Amino acid sequence: QEEANFHLINLPSRTTDDVGITLMANVSNSMELNIALRHGAEGIGLLRSEMIFMQNQRMMNENEQFDLYREFLILFSGKPVTIRTLDLGGDKFLNNPVHEANPFLGWRSIRIFLKEKDFFKQQLRAIMRSSVFNDNVKILIPMISSLSEVQQIKAILQECIAELKKEGRPFNYKIPLGIMVEIPSAAVMASTLIKEVDFFSIGTNDLVQYTLATDRGNPNVSEYYQPLNPAVLALIRLTIRAATAQRKPVSVCGEMARDPLYVRLLLGMGLRIFSVNPAYLPLVKSILLKSSAQQTKELWNTVKKLKTHEEIGEVLREDLKKHC
Ligand code: PEP
Ligand code: MG
Repeated sequence: QEEANFHLINLPSRTTDDVGITLMANVSNSMELNIALRHGAEGIGLLRSEMIFMQNQRMMNENEQFDLYREFLILFSGKPVTIRTLDLGGDKFLNNPVHEANPFLGWRSIRIFLKEKDFFKQQLRAIMRSSVFNDNVKILIPMISSLSEVQQIKAILQECIAELKKEGRPFNYKIPLGIMVEIPSAAVMASTLIKEVDFFSIGTNDLVQYTLATDRGNPNVSEYYQPLNPAVLALIRLTIRAATAQRKPVSVCGEMARDPLYVRLLLGMGLRIFSVNPAYLPLVKSILLKSSAQQTKELWNTVKKLKTHEEIGEVLREDLKKHC
């Protein structure tokens, strides 16, 4: 697929009815970063910083992180780079796994950072300082479940800004702050949350898991992991609508965004920014170039009336066969 669509990588991403789409990459290391560049990514929609820490098997201090982000930011200079703060816990650990009965519902991600504030500040400061290499760097916070977390994070960010100014360090004072919408409560509260942040990134991998109470990595329950469940689609639509109403960017960075079966549906739901594993950029672009925003909107209007994921899957397979 990659080979077949390789010739598309330098074409602008526009639908047949001339709606502009932004195609970005999810990356976890330098190798993926290079594939993203070769495949014409318009930016990094998700840099999974925890993966880099895991390769090093330890926490990195502020200066080490600063050096590391520099490499990514220089390679993508002039293009947006969204650095996600550590998303550890669940099934991702540095060296000492925490034993919990329900790790995905436990000591994870931003929950760790709001308790370990110094580590959080080190990462925020390193990202902010790295904005001198690329003023399109953005901060993305994973696993948000409530407004009060966002308020706490903004207060901590303000502390970092004040410190850096006092130290006389150069950085982009207006660095955009976004959140992952990947817990159902965040999707339900999307219209409140979007007023507090600059952008949303929808993490469908976790959103499906948490909406349907189905472990994303457990083969015993894989039949319950249904991206097309109408409840999941309703939450995605709610999130896209809340951001669009405030004229703020919203992307999908979960695996749904790279699957041809879902790409046209997401487009029809109003999504204009897709962030995918860089190997899939040519394939996703090939689908978008053959799709019309207006026609896929009608596709969504049909799908939203259906009540089961089986019926929805049927309609999407037919649609894909017909148009792509
Ligand atoms: C997601 O949950 O969809 C996501 C993009 O984050 P991760 O897969 O790293 O949890
Ligand atoms: Mg996630």
